[in-house]
Amino acid sequence: MPELPDVTVYIEHVARRTVGHPLERIRLASPFLLRTADPPIATVFGKVVRRVTRLGKRIVLTFETEKKKDEELHLVIHLMIAGRFRWKPHGTGIPGKIGLAALDFGPAATKSATEKDAGTLIFTEASSKKRASLHLVRGQAALLALAPDGLEVLDASTEELADRLRSENHTLKRALTDPHLFSGIGNAYSDEILHHARMSPVKLTSRLTDDEIRTLHASIREVLVTWTDRLRARSGEFPEQVTAFQPEMAVHGKYGKPCPRCGGRVQRIRYADNEMNYCPACQTEGKLLADRSLSRLMRGDWPKTLEALEAKKERGRASLPE
Ligand SMILES: [Zn+2]
Repeated sequence: MPELPDVTVYIEHVARRTVGHPLERIRLASPFLLRTADPPIATVFGKVVRRVTRLGKRIVLTFETEKKKDEELHLVIHLMIAGRFRWKPHGTGIPGKIGLAALDFGPAATKSATEKDAGTLIFTEASSKKRASLHLVRGQAALLALAPDGLEVLDASTEELADRLRSENHTLKRALTDPHLFSGIGNAYSDEILHHARMSPVKLTSRLTDDEIRTLHASIREVLVTWTDRLRARSGEFPEQVTAFQPEMAVHGKYGKPCPRCGGRVQRIRYADNEMNYCPACQTEGKLLADRSLSRLMRGDWPKTLEALEAKKERGRASLPE
């Protein structure tokens, strides 16, 4: 799933090409992509894009309106896991199979436009599960209702971070990836952040000391800012290679590979449609989370979800390494 660094870079590119341009029309490959009926999608046709912003992992295009600011139109795009953008010449057709929609932008309508040319933003989803979505809403309240109230980690103070972490008792991995607690962090960057902070993904948030929270906060900033800069630098004309698996990642997608810090083998715990990757030497005092005690606890079954893992861990009490 595109997370904060990928979404930030997407927004910069989409903003550069669309702010100040009229959205002439939206061509939909499937009517199911659009999850709202009111206001009708045609309401936004011909309107000029005022700004492009991030709401959690969503991308929001806000349009100029003659009406009051609280009645602005917002087009909200959620890429989910496999949603991606391409920027193509104006009027380019929607690619078969993976194409979801095409948004045609006319030539610049205002002086504020960075680029003057018309073009088409193609929205694709390379997955049989079509989960990406498009919403058109009017007004700030309707916009905010679309996203969970996760903390914006790059704007937050350490105290705010601590409040969120201690508001519920979860494993660090689950807390960081819960969009109701934190905004924009998913499976990939949570692995990287926890490795950077040298913390176990299954450490419980209630047991974090103030020092540990300060360390975690520094790692969140360092990992997200470094990766945003890195992705920005390599994005070229338009980000075409958006993936959760990057060669320079330390542990995410690196099962069995050497940890770049200590050279030990990266390990993982898999559950239904996700996994956590970690370095035992750097993060769990050398202990394997998938060792016999965990296997016994799981009775040979891997947990289907992080919630199930937490429940089993709770029942297993302190027998698991942290
Ligand atoms: Zn290591």
